[in-house]
Amino acid sequence: MTAHSNVYPTKALQDLDAAHHWHPFSDMKSLNAEGTRIITSADGVWLRDSEGKKILDGMAGLWCVQVGHGRTEIADAVHKQMVELSYYNTFFKTTHPPAVALSEKLASLAPAHINRVFYCSSGSEANDTVFRMVRTYWDKLGKPDKKGIIGRWNGYHGSTLAGTSLGGMKAMHAQGDLPIPGVYHIDQPYWFGEGHEMDPDEFGIFTARKLEQAIDEIGEDKIAAFIAEPVQGAGGVIIPPDSYWPEIRRILKERDILFVSDEVICGFGRMGEWFGSGYYGMEPDLMPIAKGLTSGYLPMGGVMVSDRVAEGLMLAGGEFYHGYTYSGHPACAAAALANLEIIEREGLVGRVKNDIGPYLKERWLKLAGHPLVGEARMTGLLGALELVPNKTNPHKPFRDAGTAGTLCRDISFENGMVMRAVRDSMIISPPLVLTHEEADLLVKTVEKTLDDTF
Ligand code: PLP
Repeated sequence: MTAHSNVYPTKALQDLDAAHHWHPFSDMKSLNAEGTRIITSADGVWLRDSEGKKILDGMAGLWCVQVGHGRTEIADAVHKQMVELSYYNTFFKTTHPPAVALSEKLASLAPAHINRVFYCSSGSEANDTVFRMVRTYWDKLGKPDKKGIIGRWNGYHGSTLAGTSLGGMKAMHAQGDLPIPGVYHIDQPYWFGEGHEMDPDEFGIFTARKLEQAIDEIGEDKIAAFIAEPVQGAGGVIIPPDSYWPEIRRILKERDILFVSDEVICGFGRMGEWFGSGYYGMEPDLMPIAKGLTSGYLPMGGVMVSDRVAEGLMLAGGEFYHGYTYSGHPACAAAALANLEIIEREGLVGRVKNDIGPYLKERWLKLAGHPLVGEARMTGLLGALELVPNKTNPHKPFRDAGTAGTLCRDISFENGMVMRAVRDSMIISPPLVLTHEEADLLVKTVEKTLDDTF
């Protein structure tokens, strides 16, 4: 097999995969019966599968390939780094040039009050780090009872024990007897699904005040932090009403708890700003990052730490007993630096804000006219369509939740584009390098897919 061959032995690979590979978030019984799709190469926004079929990557992999696939600059930077220093750790008073350069770069991109980064290899590990960091912070400040962490129903913060607990996916909680004690959840600002009987802004305030109620009920002296994604991604691209974040900001300002903005999806230009919290004018104390940090070329995550938290953690001295073998891995740091260099050089953040973002949004919102679509929404390059059985009563869901979404997702793939289904919402999160022509094709493919699904 050569890298760009289109004559892969599909069936043989599927059989081996079924025999030996346990896939994440998959029903292995039905997956093995159907056979997996085999992606063999990719370039720009295009994937190619083992049958030689070209597929538009409407999800940027898993919301991560900001700069598109196949960027040789990143591969070259990683190669150079691996030849020079393939691995060394950042424990025990050591560091290395790529970790130093990346930390300085990230501090320069973050808001002024955030100047440090703690590295790991994924978004889940970043949120495990957050979990221990916020509790340790309050311990150090002599407030050991401030341990509670508030997340949101349907939020997603990873699938480790802390990540699953902080997230609000009930099906995940059911596996492993989670959440960990001391984690609480409040309602999400999902107007289409849960708030349509109110005006959107009224609903935004209403759901934001659930945070106020939770803090006041549990007691401010028992809450360490509130964690949220600026726009809930895996929960279904839940774009909050305009009133939501300003009200959360007011509530947080009046209470002494930390705000954690999970930037794993919303960071690195996805919303037309470097960080999604910046889009909403929020000032986080901690920002978990991953995905777009390396555009997925190598696994890397981190927690961006504000001066307030860093100073608190350092206050009394003593070690923060936390870290990973691959914290700040040199090859991953080199990939991140090369990736950030491309994002800056090609002006991709501004492109999402002023060019391809508005261009795609204008066309995407028109899909709301389709008989199967109850709502179309988009911010930055994050979009969702709500599939509904009956447009005259659009908020009434399908009887068999998720069936239409799964069908639409599979038809989309057959039509040459990856869309993700979250229940019956169809999600896109394309690479930030998507051209106008590719955006037109994307919308046309979605139209056809909706017609074929209807
Ligand atoms: N946080 C958010 C907002 C995410 O969307 C994800 C993954 O999709 C994670 C955390 C977990 O990241 P990872 O899959 O790299 O562990």
